[in-house]
Amino acid sequence: MSDWIDDELDERRRLGLYRSRRRLESAQGARVRLGGREIVNFSSNDYLDLAADPRLARAAARAARRFGCGAGASPLVSGHLRPLRDLERDLAAWEGTEAALVFATGYAANLAAVSTLAGREDAVFSDALNHASLIDGGRLSRARLHVYRHCDLDHLHDLLAREGPAARRRLIVTDTVFSMDGDLAPLDGLIDLAERHDALLLIDEAHATGVLGEGGRGLTDLLAPRTFDPDHLVKVGTLSKALGAQGGFVCGSHRLVEYLVNCGRPYIFSTALAPPLAAAAREAVALVRAEPERRRRLLALAEKLRDGLGVTGGSRCQIVPVIVGEAAAAVRLSARLEERGLLVPAIRPPSVPEGTSRLRISLTAGHTEEDVRRLLEALRE
Ligand code: PMP
Repeated sequence: MSDWIDDELDERRRLGLYRSRRRLESAQGARVRLGGREIVNFSSNDYLDLAADPRLARAAARAARRFGCGAGASPLVSGHLRPLRDLERDLAAWEGTEAALVFATGYAANLAAVSTLAGREDAVFSDALNHASLIDGGRLSRARLHVYRHCDLDHLHDLLAREGPAARRRLIVTDTVFSMDGDLAPLDGLIDLAERHDALLLIDEAHATGVLGEGGRGLTDLLAPRTFDPDHLVKVGTLSKALGAQGGFVCGSHRLVEYLVNCGRPYIFSTALAPPLAAAAREAVALVRAEPERRRRLLALAEKLRDGLGVTGGSRCQIVPVIVGEAAAAVRLSARLEERGLLVPAIRPPSVPEGTSRLRISLTAGHTEEDVRRLLEALRE
């Protein structure tokens, strides 16, 4: 058995696609210890610099003492723990929806939402650059999958008009911030198309939660005061990135949550989010609401970085790509930055399309202007 595994790994090495895990010797943060030295970290989705915040750690420790570390089983089997109930209530209040449902990962939240809201007789319309969890949810749903060109509303409209009527129901799925480019989905146009074609729109705000909009609720915040018809819009967010904890959530109507609890396989058949993480995420929601300056500073830093770089594709937020092309070249460039004390990951297929390997710069509220200046100087060289 091991022969073919060795062959496959060798092939990956040859193509510059081999991946390995680095030994991290500190907590997450804008500065981390890697390979025995301190390095400026531009690789993390800890956008608000909350992952190692002592306030989250204290909330987690309190919950661990009172409710333990493990959730025991699925909430349907062993009970809906208090830290999860509190978190769901606060998430719904923050998002302005009737209810919210928390999952142990954002991946599970997307898998559950897509695979439960679409079935064999339905059609899923998916942006070409959607995250793997949305794609996998579509596969699990067994619906017919139609991929529209990235952010191309005309293409989506054509597909909906051609393929939509034959389906029992139509589900459009999209990231709101695309994680490898930092560009934004054309949300207004997507809502219009969903309404026009009687489709449900599912948006994944994973990289926007806590970062975009006045209230930090994501791209939907930027569209305010537009009101959303809950029968046409379902929103997924994550607790694992800007909120510095772990998990994902779906928010919407009571009816939607009840349906996902009853029919969402990744919810039913998986252990709930651990109580300490639920408590940490709840603390993070409070901090996002109380400390808007974190996201303002972060977005201002990103603007500085983009100005300094010049060409950054469609980036409009804290994720800024530098497209290199071949995987091996991106890996080499990343290694040279690391020699200079800057951790900027090379992102390669299948995370991005062939020939578009890149450095993915991810800023956090913990970075300083000096960090950005150093990075720009190194990249120029
Ligand atoms: N959606 C998007 C757009 C993501 O980038 C990710 C994680 N990289 C997820 C969902 C999954 O979230 P989690 O890491 O919490 O499983």
